[in-house]
Amino acid sequence: MERFDAVIIGAGAAGMFCAAIAGQAGCRVLLLDNGKKPGRKILMSGGGRCNFTNLYVEPAAYLSQNPHFCKSALARYTQWDFIDLVGKHGIAWHEKTLGQLFCDDSAQQIVDLLVAECTKGNVTTRLRSEVLDVTRDDAGYTLQLNGESVITHKLVIASGGLSMPGLGASPFGYKIAEQFGLKVLPTRAGLVPFTLHKPLLEQLSLLSGVSVPSTITAEDGTVFRESLLFTHRGLSGPAVLQISSYWQPGEFVTINMLPECDLDAFLNDQRAAHPNQSLKNTLAMQLPKRLIECLQQLGQIPDVTLKQLNSREQQALVDNLTRWRVQPNGTEGYRTAEVTLGGVDTHELSSRTMEARNVPGLYFIGEVMDVTGWLGGYNFQWAWSSAWACAQALAEQ
Ligand code: FAD
Repeated sequence: MERFDAVIIGAGAAGMFCAAIAGQAGCRVLLLDNGKKPGRKILMSGGGRCNFTNLYVEPAAYLSQNPHFCKSALARYTQWDFIDLVGKHGIAWHEKTLGQLFCDDSAQQIVDLLVAECTKGNVTTRLRSEVLDVTRDDAGYTLQLNGESVITHKLVIASGGLSMPGLGASPFGYKIAEQFGLKVLPTRAGLVPFTLHKPLLEQLSLLSGVSVPSTITAEDGTVFRESLLFTHRGLSGPAVLQISSYWQPGEFVTINMLPECDLDAFLNDQRAAHPNQSLKNTLAMQLPKRLIECLQQLGQIPDVTLKQLNSREQQALVDNLTRWRVQPNGTEGYRTAEVTLGGVDTHELSSRTMEARNVPGLYFIGEVMDVTGWLGGYNFQWAWSSAWACAQALAEQ
């Protein structure tokens, strides 16, 4: 039976980075994945350019039932450390918006970086490797793989969440946690588009493909200011993906499609200057034409001039455009979600080492645990930071 200092299950962002750092610190590491390629989600990420971190990473950008948990790792391995590594590999990058850093060329460069770092750490990587069974005794953790067994004292679970099953996502990590008596918090899809009830969807069908700047507010008061996209299934775009992580079934979200404009004041000013101007043409100065056409068809924009618009109609219009309360039917679920909320309860883990407090030698890193970032590079930064913290601990003894 082969013995390794550490076995890491999952060759995604967290698993590869942890393997590389631990290997470079002298550990004999085996990295396993059930897929035929490492880093499949990285390749898909950021529209193929990988939004690998964010300039403004801070603990407040992470959702967790234990909000303090992420602080230590994020402070010890920061966005600047990863930006430095990206620079050392000669990867050109740019800030797209809101501190989000993307490769200029391709997400493949980040996978290549991780593979190169693993090679530097003499990591043994086995792809298409299914872990059939894990047992623990005095000799350590024994893993039954297809056709062979390996043994280790340190087992790292980096198998990610449930999002995008087509990219290898599986509940493996949660099952291992439960097998060893760790609590797993309920999971749900995050950073995911909303679906709408059929009547509303039909009313808005004309808008599919239209994007507007917006602020979007959840019932708990969380607000994001990003763009909103109408789709043939419902609502998407960065604003919706962000707020979906704060939304619970049955709740409403409130959307302002004119965040830059005080609509009431704008209409009053325009009325004073151009009383005979049509309401439709006035609104076209602020909103996409298709949105106005759709709202006209729905009877929300009366066919009047500004001087004919009465105060009740104006108030209704302001409400519809700046305080639109929508009750999503649901989300598109794990099929299209970028992340999984919930997971291994971090109260069970050390925030310094990521080791299970009551199960020596068992570690969890990355998305499998109950730490979920905003859209914008925060989730990869959590993968890098948690992996780095764990790798230090693997190398300690
Ligand atoms: P993963 O990257 O999911 O890796 C887990 C690995 O474990 C996978 O390779 C999987 O095949 C393997 N595995 C699972 N089960 C088993 C098993 N039983 N046996 C063996 N191996 C197993 N975040 C950002 O910060 N920026 C972005 O631009 C971004 N874009 C995204 C785009 C998409 C389409 C998606 C789906 C996600 C995106 N994310 C982004 C989120 C980010 O990809 C994840 O948060 C991150 O990959 C989590 O890293 P991880 O290593 O924990 O898990």
